[in-house]
Amino acid sequence: MPKKTIGLYPGSFDPVTYGHLDIAKRALKMCDELHFAVVENPNKRSDLPVEERVRLISAVTKGWKGVKVSSFQGLLVDYAKEMKANLIFRGLRAVADFEYEFQMALINRSLHPGIEVVFLVPNEKFIFLSSSAIKEVAKLKGSVKGFVPPVVAKSLKDFF
Ligand code: ADP
Repeated sequence: MPKKTIGLYPGSFDPVTYGHLDIAKRALKMCDELHFAVVENPNKRSDLPVEERVRLISAVTKGWKGVKVSSFQGLLVDYAKEMKANLIFRGLRAVADFEYEFQMALINRSLHPGIEVVFLVPNEKFIFLSSSAIKEVAKLKGSVKGFVPPVVAKSLKDFF
């Protein structure tokens, strides 16, 4: 039987936005299973608790075939090995993302030569979208309707 292609889509997802979902849909065309891997990093400040970030992704991808959602701590490449992933997907919005992503891809590849990092570009509608910008809008009681699914908007409203 041919080997399954398992993709990992790691990130903070604090919270998940339409930009993340756009990348995930594109990634799904390239693998049999796509695992959203929510980073639980004690050194990196996040607003929403990891359980809520996982819950929101699970809710908005309900019914998508081949999607799994989990959280992890520690090194991404170790988690990739544990999940038997062959690909890591990351989204690129602008040149500003490039330097950091390029560096991380090279580090990850040297730690785990068996994995390939795939960069995907979202629909241009989402190029400006980031979780932190959405949180700023939500904190100031603005509408985040066009940027995140309703369940995420509700969670942000309750949170802030
Ligand atoms: P991280 O803290 O790891 O960057 P994020 O949740 O901010 O986590 O992002 C996860 C991944 O999704 C990253 O590769 C990021 O570049 C990508 N991403 C975030 N927002 C968008 C967007 N609007 N369009 C495309 N990719 C995005």
